[in-house]
Amino acid sequence: NKVIKLANRPVGKPEVSDFDFEEIDKPTPSEGELLLEAKYVSVDPYLRGRMSEAESYVEPFELDKPISSAIVAKVISSNNGEFNEGDYVSGELDWKEYQVSDGKELRKVDPDGAPLSANLGILGMTGITAYIGLTEIGELKEGETLVVSGAAGAVGSVVGQIGKIKNCHVVGIAGSDEKVELLKTKFGFDEGINYKKTENMGQAIAKASPDGVDVYFDNVGGRISDGVYQNMNDFGRVINCGAIALYNATEMPTGPRVEPMLVQKRLSMQGFIVGDHQDKFGEAVKQLAGWLAEGKLEYSETIVEGFENIPQAFLDLFEGKNQGKMIVKV
Ligand code: NDP
Repeated sequence: NKVIKLANRPVGKPEVSDFDFEEIDKPTPSEGELLLEAKYVSVDPYLRGRMSEAESYVEPFELDKPISSAIVAKVISSNNGEFNEGDYVSGELDWKEYQVSDGKELRKVDPDGAPLSANLGILGMTGITAYIGLTEIGELKEGETLVVSGAAGAVGSVVGQIGKIKNCHVVGIAGSDEKVELLKTKFGFDEGINYKKTENMGQAIAKASPDGVDVYFDNVGGRISDGVYQNMNDFGRVINCGAIALYNATEMPTGPRVEPMLVQKRLSMQGFIVGDHQDKFGEAVKQLAGWLAEGKLEYSETIVEGFENIPQAFLDLFEGKNQGKMIVKV
C-alpha cells in the first residue's frame, strides 16, 4: 500500500524530491468505517499553495504527512450502513492506494453514468468553478466579449464554452499553437492567442476583441492579465479565479498600476473560491450534465497512468503538459 507524503516545502518550482514515497500496511476498517481503493486522483494547481506554510483559505499540508486531493475510490469493504462493497465514491482523500474513511465527507458516484474520471473535472470541482465563476461572480450576459486565460485547461475550457452557450464573443489564451487550435475546433472559441509566441499581449487582445472586453475570467495572472486589463470596457468585470503564473514566484513581479483605470472605467475585480458556494454545487452539476447530454459541452482530460506518477503529473501542470483536466489513473 503506497502513500505519498510532503517531504519539503518547495521553494519556487516544486520538484519530485519534494515528495516522499512510502510503503505502509493496508488498513482494516473499524465499526462505521469503509476501506477504499483509489481509482482516479485529481492533481490541481491550488495544491501548490497548500505546500507552503503561508496562511490561506485552506490549511497547509503538514510535512511528512500524506498529501490529499479529490479522489474517486472504490469501496472494497464496508462497516458503514450507508455504503456497500463495490460502490464508488468521491471526496478529498489522501494520496494512498488504500485507506479507511468514516464516509462523512464522501459522495456516492454513479459508475453507470458519466465516466468515473468526469467526477473530478467537468462534473467535479473544475467544471463547477467555471460555472459558478462565470454566472454568479462574473454575471456574464448574452452578447458580451469574454476573455479567458488558461483557456485550454480544466476550468478555462469550460468557461469559454459556457460563454459560447451564452452567445458571447469568446477569446482564449493558452500556451501552444496546438492548444489554440483545439480552442477553436473542439471548444468553439472565436479567437485564440498563444501567449508564448506573443510579445505584446495588449495588442493581441485588442485585435481578437474588436468590441473591447466585458468579462475577463483569469486563471493565470501576471503579464497575460496586464495585457487584458488594457482592453477592458466600461463596467467590465474581472473574475480572479487563479494565478498559476505566480504560484511558484519567490518574489512577486511588479506590473502596471491599474487603479486609475479601475476608477475611470468603473471596473470590478473579484476573487472567489468555489468552496464558498457549496449551496450552488447541485445546480451547477445539473446544468453541466444537462449541457453535456445535449452535446453543447465538450471536455478533455489528460490521463496519466500509475499511482507513482502523481507528483510528476502535478509538476506537469506548471509546464502546461495537460489539455483539459489532469488526472492520474491509479
Ligand atoms: P489547468 O487545467 O488550467 O492546468 C494548469 C494550466 O495552467 C496549464 O495547463 C498551463 O497551460 C497553464 N500555466 C501553467 N503555468 C503557467 C504560466 N506561468 N503562465 C500561464 N499559464 C500557465 O488547471 P485548473 O483548470 O485546475 O486551474 C486553473 C486555474 O484555476 C488555476 O490557477 C487554479 O488555481 C484555479 N482554480 C481556482 C479555483 C477557485 O475556487 N478559485 C478552483 C479551481 C481552480 P498553458 O499550456 O496554456 O500554459
